[in-house]
Amino acid sequence: MTQSAASGLTFRTPLLFEQGRAGRSGASLPTAGVPDADPKALFGELYREAGTPLPELSEPEVFRHYVRLSQQNFSVDTGMYPLGSCTMKYNPKVNEWAARLPGFSRIHPWAPESSVQGALALMWHLERALSEICGMDAVSLHPSAGAQGEMTGLMMIHAYHQAQGRSPKKVLIPDTAHGTNPASAALNGLTPVAFPVGESGVVDPAVFAASLDDDVAALMLTNPNTVGLFERHLPELAAMVHAKGGLVFGDGANLNALMGRARPGDLGVDVMQLNLHKTFTTPHGGGGPGSGPVGYKAKLAPHAPAGGVVRGDDGRFSFEDVGPGSVGRLRAFHANFGMLVRAYTYIRELGGEGLKRATDLAVLNANYLRVCLGETWHEAFEGPCMHEVVIDDHHLHEQHVSTLDVAKRLMDYGFHPPTIYFPLVVHGAMLIEPTETESKQTLDEFVAVMAKISQEAMETPDEVRGAPHLTRLGRLDETRAARKPVLRWMPSEATSDPEG
Ligand SMILES: *Cc1c(COP(=O)(O)O)cnc(C)c1O
Repeated sequence: MTQSAASGLTFRTPLLFEQGRAGRSGASLPTAGVPDADPKALFGELYREAGTPLPELSEPEVFRHYVRLSQQNFSVDTGMYPLGSCTMKYNPKVNEWAARLPGFSRIHPWAPESSVQGALALMWHLERALSEICGMDAVSLHPSAGAQGEMTGLMMIHAYHQAQGRSPKKVLIPDTAHGTNPASAALNGLTPVAFPVGESGVVDPAVFAASLDDDVAALMLTNPNTVGLFERHLPELAAMVHAKGGLVFGDGANLNALMGRARPGDLGVDVMQLNLHKTFTTPHGGGGPGSGPVGYKAKLAPHAPAGGVVRGDDGRFSFEDVGPGSVGRLRAFHANFGMLVRAYTYIRELGGEGLKRATDLAVLNANYLRVCLGETWHEAFEGPCMHEVVIDDHHLHEQHVSTLDVAKRLMDYGFHPPTIYFPLVVHGAMLIEPTETESKQTLDEFVAVMAKISQEAMETPDEVRGAPHLTRLGRLDETRAARKPVLRWMPSEATSDPEG
């Protein structure tokens, strides 16, 4: 039972998963035409005298359980999801159709290459399309997430330096960076060194020069960065790093602001990751699936991870053998293949002009929000942004209403909250990324709701501080959820009681 604070009404929340009864089943199998085997003989010491206390349920009960769980989720298919730096754009359903084609979805990773030519051809074409979009010489589709792509890129940088007989240690990372950046450097035995980004929000070559020395292995830079600004000095920064023998890693998670308009490879980036589950529309959230291909310049090719596809003179596709300089495999098999199909479908569906238009609309939508929200809210940085905008809770301090309260209140109005308290350099940050797939009506509605919440914070602050009021669960203890997560289903009293 759940009590709704707003109306005082209670509504029944069935716990179907826990409500099974002994002997209930969702399967109807034909009677076996062979004599029963003795399970003890069959399973030996693995045989259990008593069954595991799992719920026994009928098919409709199982079905309702999972559909109910799906209804408790907020998704981009139910509303605007402006989670900054996550590019939660609408996922076209034609991608799902393509990914489910049996020739793609029912193949085995160990199938002989001769029987999966279509899948290999798709990978080959996708590698080329992504290389073109990023201005790189080649792309490896191997890594399974943005973070793994970062790690792969830094492994390649590390291997490159070692092949030159050098071992520089420092990876310079601005203080606006995503937390995965320093982690990827550290996992490679390199030393992440943070340097400050000033008032302007972008890296200033003069400030950067102070951090630069001969021990630089790489500069790691996100462009546009996580405050939604274009790193306009990137070519100059790259030249400075290259002059010291270092390389430039580009965090390409925010490619949604560049596609068709600017190519990291043309701006001095040597190696980068792409997040197919962001820019290239595979649904994500809740941790997966992911795909973080790595694009690189020719000089890094000997160090690429396993799994590139080549086309022979006879037009046949096959996986390339890796040389001794390769950083090797980072996962079993080739990739989360369905995501490659979705990305390829998306690219073919939109074409070059369409991708450019998606970028333009993503940037336009973010700037529309920036200007409209700016009437009520404090903008963290002045002037035009790229695909996302940062505002903060400055004007609510006296009311003791915080960014967290605003995020929770947005849920009452049917919007997913933006990314909050990130980037760390902005106190009380809300990082808002509308993406190109939201209409002007939806953006206007979002602006109106944000103005309403600001007004509530002034007039009835308790209402905002107590939010959310209309969700199935109220405000959760997020610290306890993180420190003491309940990750495993345990049988409740009800299931262990046969009469219950
Ligand atoms: C999302 C993101 C990442 C990490 O990507 P995952 O696929 O979540 O591992 C890295 N950098 C930036 C800027 C991001 O937004």
